[in-house]
Amino acid sequence: MEKLEDYLKKRNFEKSPEPGDNKRGSTKGPIFLIQKHSASSLHYDFRLEIGGVLKSWAIPKGPSVDPSQKRLAIETEDHPLGYANFEGIIPEEEYGGGIVIVWDKGIFKNLKEKMSLEESYNNGQIEVWLEGEKLKGGYVLVKTKREEHWLLIKMKDEKADARKNPVSTKPQSVISGKIIEDFKSN
Ligand code: MN
Repeated sequence: MEKLEDYLKKRNFEKSPEPGDNKRGSTKGPIFLIQKHSASSLHYDFRLEIGGVLKSWAIPKGPSVDPSQKRLAIETEDHPLGYANFEGIIPEEEYGGGIVIVWDKGIFKNLKEKMSLEESYNNGQIEVWLEGEKLKGGYVLVKTKREEHWLLIKMKDEKADARKNPVSTKPQSVISGKIIEDFKSN
């Protein structure tokens, strides 16, 4: 299948403000981001730059910094690299209709020394070190037996902290400082 075919097929760019470009910026490493997406149900879209696209998972509860919390991450279609700066309103009747903010963003490192990110993805276990503004440290994404269902788990390292919950204490965008509610009209 063509890269991003699913992504492009699902969207009408005359109606949705979402980007279609797949150009990468000049960051020192691959990028990751988490978009808070208030659609038919609220979720957090976790995206990792792997193989020239943003591999994507929707996390209903959002990421945790507590290693005892396994967060369901449902794989969704690859997104273009240009999506990394997108926030705004997707019209109600369009695919993914609702409000999107960039909840966290940064670069990441592959923690597997002998395996590329693409191989890790194909094998169903990705181990990364995130350098976000809110999320830092090691995370594992592991595929379950159920189709498209993965789990995102914080590794036990110095960045783990069971007392913190940035999903509730830090709701604002790392790009604009806005929260979801700022996009809602009265
Ligand atoms: Mn989404």
